[in-house]
Amino acid sequence: MNNFLGYECSLCGKEYAPEEVTYTCPTDGGNLNVLLDYEAIKEKYHPDDITCRTETSLWRYLPLLPVSNPGGEETPLYAAGWTPTFSLPALAEKLGLNNLWLKDESRNPTASFKDRASAILVARAKEIGAEVIVTASTGNAGAALAGMSAAVGQKAVIFAPKTAPVAKIAQLLIFGAEVMLVDGTYDDAVELAVKAANEFGWYCRNTGYNPFTVEGKKTAAFEIWEWSLKALGENTKPLTIFVSVGDGNIISGIHKGFKDLEKLGWLKQMPRIIGVQAEGSAAIANAYNAGTEEITPISATTSADSISVDMPSDGVRALRAATETGGQYVLVNDEAIIASIAELGRVGVFAEPAGATAYAGLVEAISKGVVKSDDPVLVLNTGSGLKDVNAALKAVVQAPIIEPTLEAVKANL
Ligand SMILES: *Cc1c(COP(=O)(O)O)cnc(C)c1O
Ligand SMILES: [Zn+2]
Repeated sequence: MNNFLGYECSLCGKEYAPEEVTYTCPTDGGNLNVLLDYEAIKEKYHPDDITCRTETSLWRYLPLLPVSNPGGEETPLYAAGWTPTFSLPALAEKLGLNNLWLKDESRNPTASFKDRASAILVARAKEIGAEVIVTASTGNAGAALAGMSAAVGQKAVIFAPKTAPVAKIAQLLIFGAEVMLVDGTYDDAVELAVKAANEFGWYCRNTGYNPFTVEGKKTAAFEIWEWSLKALGENTKPLTIFVSVGDGNIISGIHKGFKDLEKLGWLKQMPRIIGVQAEGSAAIANAYNAGTEEITPISATTSADSISVDMPSDGVRALRAATETGGQYVLVNDEAIIASIAELGRVGVFAEPAGATAYAGLVEAISKGVVKSDDPVLVLNTGSGLKDVNAALKAVVQAPIIEPTLEAVKANL
């Protein structure tokens, strides 16, 4: 049994029973927050009951999730989450920080943060008996859904823009999903997935639109919380977390995870959450800067494909993740993003452009005085550099091609 009570609209506050709605608020289209029975969880569990668990995946937080155990314990579905957090002393010194960490989400089964959402979605699909799950994706959400679905024999249909990086398309195909490449933008694919779901009775995973994506993504906050109990100790300034933002669902998920812990009385201090957007895809940052919750669509142009979004599907909650935690939004340009891929590479982390964006945001925030040297900082790398090697190659000088002789080696040293 789980502690799933229903939903609450993030805009009008109206509550719905689990069987009353599936996606967004029928009244105003607002994103729905999943409500858990916090009292029941509190009564049954103490934080130690969670932190002593042996599962090294996001399923260690099952008591805090709105789904039941989906089975398939020895499949990739059960390898999502529980990613490592590295200390980055060389970059900390360079930036003048006392403490800098990176949580590396590229270590997920399909190499991005999106596995967290897709694992929970596949579990939910099993519960409601969905035969087919469909999603729109810039690539990673689709790869995650395709991979998690393949692991348990679930059918998946993916719509991705035809411009998606080839490695992501290869993943979709290798995992055996029904893949259709859309001659249009990510936003066109989003609309198509909703239409197809309605027409064919498929279960739609679309990021933000489906309330369960946040429930998967929040598990990263649980891991950061658990890690911080040891790594930060007592009496520290709040952790500052940098998150790259496209649809705004990862940052909303992180915020939801910390809010869940707060409701349980398990959180000492709410971290400060800072959203980072590319200048060419800044719909949420624009609203933040204008001081409004009204999100105006833009025409996205960034080469960080995973965060290239015209109309964010989770914009309002993404704004609140920053405004309600003392955080903010910062903007970075594509050159800074590409440079950050190389910076992270030199300390042993290989990030795709949208993954390196969080680090670029940290550099920008320091230059604006938003982060001080004694602020403990955690940067999220949301995706692997192997997802988009063409972008990576823009960050480095080409290797020389040489004759197989020592003279040639000497000439090139
Ligand atoms: C999806 C994605 C993001 C952005 O997440 P949103 O929920 O769209 O804000 C960032 N980085 C990577 C690698 C992603 O795949
Ligand atoms: Zn509503």
